[in-house]
Amino acid sequence: EVLLKIEDLKVSINNNQILKGLNLEIKEGEIHALMGVNGAGKSTLVKTLAAHYDCTVNGGRVTFKKKDLLEMDVATRANEGIFMSFQSPVEVAGVNNSYFLRTAMNAKRAYEGKEELDAMQFLKLVKEETNRFEIDRKLLQRDLNDGFSGGEKKRNELIQLLMLNPDLIMLDEIDSGLDVDAIKTVANVINSMLDGKKSLLMITHYDRLLELIKPDFVHILSDGKIAKTGDYSLALELDEKGFEALGINNANS
Ligand code: ADP
Ligand code: MG
Ligand code: MG
Repeated sequence: EVLLKIEDLKVSINNNQILKGLNLEIKEGEIHALMGVNGAGKSTLVKTLAAHYDCTVNGGRVTFKKKDLLEMDVATRANEGIFMSFQSPVEVAGVNNSYFLRTAMNAKRAYEGKEELDAMQFLKLVKEETNRFEIDRKLLQRDLNDGFSGGEKKRNELIQLLMLNPDLIMLDEIDSGLDVDAIKTVANVINSMLDGKKSLLMITHYDRLLELIKPDFVHILSDGKIAKTGDYSLALELDEKGFEALGINNANS
């Protein structure tokens, strides 16, 4: 079953055409890695899928669960089961993190016709999930991302992931700046969630994460399109030889 289908997607940022007719299909249960040189537009793709205000769609179609994704607002996309970890998450002072997460969770539950969780039920669930992976949950008492260190932001994203239980997980360099143990925790959480139904689109430069979460497909983004697709061996080849040897241009034009 196809979960996400991107056809001829064109996206600009500040009148610069970044994506120039990108095609990508992700089926249920598949793990996709997206690679490419800095500035290729990897973040632009996931930001567009998450309805980020930076990105202006000026062509193409995207369907998620056979529905028009581009028509959906941010909240609807989350409720439909899309989760996006941003490379630089916004800081929201004055919004309690725990309250924010419970609100997001309850919005999704209501959308699915499930009963909302009260504060006690929510706390019980958070405890269970964070204990499973020994994730520090003190962050929940603070404001959303306000003053979070890089590592704390990543940890917070893992808590969000576990609680929101999305169908499509999109990770934008979640491994950047993390030490080996933290990367292992990320991989443990993700692997525990990948149940053959959920799909993953991950952006990474780091083969360590790909060793721990083996992708079914590896795509290289170049000149606004998917220039090359392969299996895990493409990531290994890339790691060994670099982009240029694979005929991938450094320039983003
Ligand atoms: P990647 O994630 O592959 O490194 P990005 O998607 O972040 O690449 O960036 C693609 C291009 O869009 C780059 O040329 C970058 O400079 C540009 N870009 C990204 N965000 C903005 C922005 N907010 N304003 C202007 N240009 C941007
Ligand atoms: Mg970058
Ligand atoms: Mg990026």
